[in-house]
Amino acid sequence: MSGLRQVKIEAGAEQALRGFRLPEKLGFGVIMVPVMYVAECVDGVWGQGRLQPYGPIQLDPSAKVLHYAQEYFEGMKAYKVEGPHATLFRPERHVARFATSGRRLCMPEVPEEVFMEGVCTITAWAEPFIPGNTCQSLYLRPFVIGTQPNLGLGVSSTNTFIVIASPSEAYHAGSMRVLVERNDTRAAIGGTGAVKVGGNYAASLLSASRAKSKGYDQSLWLDPGTRSSIEELSGMNVFAVIDGRLHTPKLNGSILPGITRDSLIELARSLGHEVVEETMPIDALLTDIGNGRCSEAFASGTAAVVTPISVMADVDGTEYTLPQDPGPVALSLKEALLGIQEGRQEDPFGWVQRIPRTYYPSTAQVA
Ligand SMILES: *Cc1c(COP(=O)(O)O)cnc(C)c1O
Repeated sequence: MSGLRQVKIEAGAEQALRGFRLPEKLGFGVIMVPVMYVAECVDGVWGQGRLQPYGPIQLDPSAKVLHYAQEYFEGMKAYKVEGPHATLFRPERHVARFATSGRRLCMPEVPEEVFMEGVCTITAWAEPFIPGNTCQSLYLRPFVIGTQPNLGLGVSSTNTFIVIASPSEAYHAGSMRVLVERNDTRAAIGGTGAVKVGGNYAASLLSASRAKSKGYDQSLWLDPGTRSSIEELSGMNVFAVIDGRLHTPKLNGSILPGITRDSLIELARSLGHEVVEETMPIDALLTDIGNGRCSEAFASGTAAVVTPISVMADVDGTEYTLPQDPGPVALSLKEALLGIQEGRQEDPFGWVQRIPRTYYPSTAQVA
């Protein structure tokens, strides 16, 4: 199938790109490149992909995504810091996780060739607009929505895969103050916590806004069964350095398996750190911060890379301040990971991939 697929480049897409200029101030996920990739899946069969002008999409008001949250997504980045060409970071991991998310929602998986066609086409055509300073990138947002019109609860027979892209700066500058969430949970046992679906985020917003109103940046979620051990933040995994060892909660079915998390674990081990993936009771962690055994903590994710945590606060208002913010482990892991992602350092893991030439404008079919 991969050899047969050919993206249709709509004339309006070329026009839109010709007239596009990057603004001075980028922010994160605010500016969109003026094109998007779209492919439809009807009864399990994927149609031709199109690069078309960015803009509103037409949906029947009874479309299933609007009522039953039939949506899943990915978040990844294309980098152009070293050299003129864009690279992707571990795209095959995003392909695999995207498929897992689709299966969990009983929606069609996007085959690797369709996913890569979408991501590579938009990245290749938008390459001139990828900012090239360190910590800048093209943030890519692939997502699938169930479009079948009718209010009956059931599997959507029609689905649309879309990729949009945003030239962006770092997601979160500085460190974060997090509030332990003792009541609500982000994910349920047997639920969708381990997959990347919009519904998880909808359920997290009430807690997040409570945390904000108390002066914190994010909620720190606990396990849904006993609310006694830490899981993650709403969109980032969590690490802590305790007695010199790097700890992160082990994947348990309700934690999202972050690709940054996985990369940091491998990178940390290669740099000689001992990494412990185990259940992390919240009370022991707060005690360890209080007595100094926990020297630093940080969050990880594609958007934020590595973001130090300065304070963990409990619901009773007690604040536990991390001794080192940012700590040396967070700083060295961040620089090592960014160095590989941005092509400034050797990539001994084979994580970084060029965009195949076939996706670039000169060889694409122009409609
Ligand atoms: C996307 C996401 C992460 C981070 O995953 P990465 O692959 O590292 O970007 C962590 N937690 C949740 C809930 C997420 O949705």
